[in-house]
This record gives sequence, structure tokens and C-alpha cells, in this order.
Amino acid sequence: MTPTLSYRGRFAPSPTGPLHFGSLVAALGSCLDARANRGEWLVRMEDVDSPRCVAGADRQILKTLEASGFEWDGEVVYQSRRSDLYRAAFDRLNSSGCLFPCACTRKQLAGGAPAIDGGQLYDGRCRNGLPPGARPRAWRLRVPDAGETSFDDAIQGRMSQQLRRDVGDFVVLRADGLFAYQLAVIADDDEQGITHVVRGADLLDSTPRQIFLQQLLGYPQPVYAHLPVAVDANGEKLSKQTLAAPVDVAQPLPALLAAWRFLGQMPEAPPARVNEFWEYAITHWRLSKVPQRRAQAAPDYSPLY
Ligand code: GLU
Repeated sequence: MTPTLSYRGRFAPSPTGPLHFGSLVAALGSCLDARANRGEWLVRMEDVDSPRCVAGADRQILKTLEASGFEWDGEVVYQSRRSDLYRAAFDRLNSSGCLFPCACTRKQLAGGAPAIDGGQLYDGRCRNGLPPGARPRAWRLRVPDAGETSFDDAIQGRMSQQLRRDVGDFVVLRADGLFAYQLAVIADDDEQGITHVVRGADLLDSTPRQIFLQQLLGYPQPVYAHLPVAVDANGEKLSKQTLAAPVDVAQPLPALLAAWRFLGQMPEAPPARVNEFWEYAITHWRLSKVPQRRAQAAPDYSPLY
């Protein structure tokens, strides 16, 4: 008898630049939690937002992961090759009347109230039909007028959103014809059988939208655990835009140890080699030690540790 797989995690980087400390934290937390639970760990390239992707960044990320001792299960999946999957989810939502076309431009919506994630709160102007003569641009999901979408995050605790008040009817198919991240990510997590999503807390505010989509499509809801996000001295998330330094492929251990400590785990005697680090880290990983914070200052680690 095949045992039921009880843990399948994933790391889902967007190939918009090299792997930096912030993305290493998400890779490490998701991988260690999977391995410590004798689970599988997959890597998925989230290149659905093709205009933001950088040619070759996917290979660079994979090379850095490999040099840092990460081992993933199965083939790396690319979102850019899975639009049939997203189209099928879109069609199901559309045929059950959950979607509506929207003719609004960004400019028309500017100046309204902000959404909880800093984006634009949609005021529902095309909800009950397009203005006469207007051409549909994006497709939005109709969210409920009342009621909360809640979940228990394994690190951050109980989270709740009232979708209409906090984000509004959100885009699932963009005006440029690309499927939105919110739709792609839940279709992928479902199709890949992901049971545990361990990722940065910058996505905490997206999770209720994803759970709402899972409920509409009848997908199982994975366990969510949102790790603190590494921020720079100005409180900005490390990213290509903030010129975060790539993880050094030649000397990955200092970054691995810094990420390990960043996640609240304390090495009694720091391992001296990458393979020793992994052996040690898989045995000693405790999700309960991860700080219950959305953001945390990135350490200034020296490659000469
Ligand atoms: N692709 C997203 C990112 O790089 C992560 C999405 C996810 O883990 O759900 O920020």
C-alpha cells in the first residue's frame, strides 16, 4: 500500500533577478520544514508575469540553490508553460458566474482608497455591467459583500480579511492577457498537490484571496506558514529594486547560517561545511522558533564568517 503523502512543500521564486538573502530565507524555511517532516519539496518558477522576468535569472537561481546544497524533488515547473491549467480554472469560475469583465484603466481607478496590500481598492464600477460602448480589459472576481475570509497561519496566528473592504473585486486575467498571480498560484498549488505553503509574510495579505479562490474551485486548502520578510535599513523588502546582494555561489555557507539565525534557529556549534549544515539543520529545525513578525532587519553577514 502506498502511504498517503502528508507533506509536499514548494519554493516558488519569480525569476526577476538572482537569489538574494530574502529569497534564500523563503527557500530555506520551506525546504527545512518539508524535510524535517519527511516531506517532498518542489521548485516552481513563477514566470507568469513575463514582463517582470529577466532572461537567465531562472538558471541563476537554480545554480545558487544547487551550490547551497538544496535538493528538490522532480522537475522544475515553469508557469509560462502552464496557461492551459490557468485557462481551465478561469473558465470554471466564469461559467459559474464568479467573474466579470472590467473596462477601467489604472488611471481611471487612481486616487481611490488603497487596498490592504498597498494596491488600489477596486470600487466596483464595472461590477454590474460595462459602461455603454466600453471594451473589456481585465477580468475580475466578484468578492462577497460581507463575511470574513479567515485562516490560521502556522507562524503568524489567526488572520482575517473582509475581501470587499480590504481588496475589492480582484483581477484574475490582466488587461495584457496574462493570468494574474493569485489565480496561477492556487491552480499550481492544487495541481502539484501542495499541502504546505511556507513563504514570506509579504504574501500574507494575498492568502485570503487565494483561499477564497480555492473555496470557489473546490480545491483543498494547504497549511500556510508565513516567514518574516528580510528588510533593509529603510524598512524596504530586499529585492532587485533595493539592490540586494546575490547569495555568493562560491561561499554559500555564511548566507545559509545567517538565514538559519534569521529564522530564529540557533546553531550551538556552527557547522563548517554546507553538507554538515544541511544534516544539522534538518534535524534541528523548529517551526515554532520562527519569529512571529511580518518583517525583520536583514543581518549584515560576512562571507568570511
Ligand atoms: N513568486 C512569489 C515571489 O517570488 C512567491 C509566491 C508564493 O510563494 O506563493 O514572491
